[in-house]
Amino acid sequence: MLNQMHQSVAASHDDRTNELLQVVNALGSLMDKRLLHGTAERLSWLEAMINHVPDYIYAKDTEGRFLFANKAVLKNNGFDAMEDMLGLTDADIHGRDLAEAISDVERRVIATGKPDLGYEERAIRGGGPDRWLMMSRVPLRDRHGHIIGVVGASRDISDKKTVERMSNAHAALLERVLERVPTACLLAQLPSLIESLSEGLEAVVLCAGDRSLFLNKGKASAWRELTSLTDAYAAFDAIAIAAVVDKLKDSCVIDVRTENGEVHALLIVQGICGEEHAEMKEFCRTAARLTGIAIDREKSERRMQTLATTDPLTGLPNRNAIIEYLEALIADGATEIGVAFIDLDDFKYVNDSLGHPCGDQLLRLVADRLSRAVGSSGQVSRLGGDEFVIVSSEPRCFESQLRKLVLDAAEPMSLGGKQSRVTLSAGLAIFPHDGGNVAELFSNADMAMYRAKASGKNAVSAYSSEIARELRLKIDKTEQLRTAIENDEFVLHYQPQYSTAAEELVGVEALVRWQHPVEGLLYPGDFISLAEETGLIVELGQLVLEKACRQAALWQKRGIKVLRVGVNVSARQFEDPNLLVSVRQALSRSDLAPGWLEIEITESMIMRDGEGSIATMKELAALGVSIALDDFGTGYSSLSVLKRLPVTRLKIDRSFITDTPHDQDSVAITSAIVSLGTQLGLEIIAEGVEDERQAKWLKSIGCTEAQGYFYGRPLPAHELFGTETVR
Ligand code: C2E
Ligand code: MG
Ligand code: MG
Repeated sequence: MLNQMHQSVAASHDDRTNELLQVVNALGSLMDKRLLHGTAERLSWLEAMINHVPDYIYAKDTEGRFLFANKAVLKNNGFDAMEDMLGLTDADIHGRDLAEAISDVERRVIATGKPDLGYEERAIRGGGPDRWLMMSRVPLRDRHGHIIGVVGASRDISDKKTVERMSNAHAALLERVLERVPTACLLAQLPSLIESLSEGLEAVVLCAGDRSLFLNKGKASAWRELTSLTDAYAAFDAIAIAAVVDKLKDSCVIDVRTENGEVHALLIVQGICGEEHAEMKEFCRTAARLTGIAIDREKSERRMQTLATTDPLTGLPNRNAIIEYLEALIADGATEIGVAFIDLDDFKYVNDSLGHPCGDQLLRLVADRLSRAVGSSGQVSRLGGDEFVIVSSEPRCFESQLRKLVLDAAEPMSLGGKQSRVTLSAGLAIFPHDGGNVAELFSNADMAMYRAKASGKNAVSAYSSEIARELRLKIDKTEQLRTAIENDEFVLHYQPQYSTAAEELVGVEALVRWQHPVEGLLYPGDFISLAEETGLIVELGQLVLEKACRQAALWQKRGIKVLRVGVNVSARQFEDPNLLVSVRQALSRSDLAPGWLEIEITESMIMRDGEGSIATMKELAALGVSIALDDFGTGYSSLSVLKRLPVTRLKIDRSFITDTPHDQDSVAITSAIVSLGTQLGLEIIAEGVEDERQAKWLKSIGCTEAQGYFYGRPLPAHELFGTETVR
């Protein structure tokens, strides 16, 4: 029998259990030997040993009656001495139900003679909460090898099981954190996770902020106190919290903190206060820490998400967000959607004149006005710069809504302490008529917006195929203009300027013409504004400047007459930081003395960027170049400003001259300009003089110079003076 036992024991994997089984085996055989030899001393020595081990060791007969039980078994079952337990069955001790489960295995071992060394772990309820044992049973045989009962050895592995469960729970929690389970879910699952670790535990999670309370359903009554805790917690009243927590018996409160130390939630666990629960407590702390980390990560992800979809200046959805919104509407099967592109008119000048902080303030104000106007009928977004988009799910009245919006936006607003007025231009496209996808809708609404700008700004324009055609033409024309600059298809005509007193030629104004390969000679009205809009004017202007200077220098060389040459400079060119370099270059290349060059700028250019343009004018004047204010009288410039400008000449706009001397208003204005200009020490030239009466009248009021068809139309150099024309 010993041999057989040894073999089965050798087959087992748990050494400690093996030892025990050997001892029990030895005990079994000694019992036999005792009968034979009565070696009582050795028996008591062995019994003492077996009684010392913390494991449960017992032997039962074939009827399940206890033959032997060590101290651990006795104590566990509430007996003092072996005699008290002898002959009792599990049914006598634990009741019939529980006994059934135990005796099943034992009966099988007795019946088959096969040891049960599967090390099955079984919860033995009734023996205390959450008890786990690792059990082994071998048959008990007499010396003839007949089975006379069963020997059992088992070990309490409850602690090991708890540790195992804690580590599983820890892994599960970690997994959920890594899976980015929303933290609200993590917090909600925390109580059941903790409660699953051991019987007798109860956990709740109490969140600050929204005052939510997470606990296992059915346990609410046990935590009635928590209602008042929620209130105390929501109010962040530490004393009130402590008072309530005190009332919760046997409780341990753990903070769920975020990185910045802020308490996001409280984890309250009942039943883990004693020393013996130190590990469990540590687990709860770890769980709280992990949850805190998850909350931090979720917050930073949300921040990133917000950054990725929000315009930081206005808080409006950004380009990505509005595209997604529009795509979703289309995908949801919307029948009609309105898309509007909105652009601030002349935003650059607000930025330049009032400064960037005011520009930002303006964008925020506009964002606010747009959002309020659109309300829940759509979504406003800032694309960047001064561009906004509105996507409306109710496009029927969208156009009239936009018109009202543009009208309202023009209401004065306080900017940087000053009352300012800013206008908007809007372009509208409707899905599906004007575009079947985001790209088409955006592009067509943008096109319509440009149309609104071109038609004088502060307007709404709806997309149409006509707009698209116009734009196509414009794109073609721009391309032609670009090639024309490359191929130098431009020529200058010169219009003479005369002194009224001696009727003597004093200067010429250079006026550009485009020798278009197909359309023939084009006048500035056909291409200057496009060149200005596209920025091509900078290159074109440089070309004109160079040609005019070289032509003037050539006339001087040919001994025609030493003449002043006026060159028109447009706004974009005037604001170009390279203007000074260009002028200097044109003068030095042509070898023209700066005094013979006159730059013509308009009043409105000075009004656009007061200080900046005054500085540029001063630099030009410092070069020795003279400056004329073109189209004077149309730009409302104040005389106080005029006094500060290094201007040589005022060119009275043709519109005033046309109606002189018969129209009273024109006469009054022209006379006033001449008189005030003269007082300021400026020279005055009248533009558009077409007949002798006008010439005479101008002379009579003291206007010193004149230019117009009466004196001569603009002509190419060779027609004007018979000299060659510079290329
Ligand atoms: P502006 O500088 O005021 O030039 C005078 C314009 O009035 C010229 O038109 C000229 O032909 C026209 N004009 C002159 N006398 C009379 C007259 O007696 N009666 C009438 N009805 N018109 C007269 P143009 O050449 O078509 O130029 C128009 C405008 O284009 C110019 O106005 C100027 O602002 C701009 N421009 C011309 N050349 C250039 C250039 O090279 N660069 C830039 N940036 N602008 C230019
Ligand atoms: Mg001019
Ligand atoms: Mg003019």
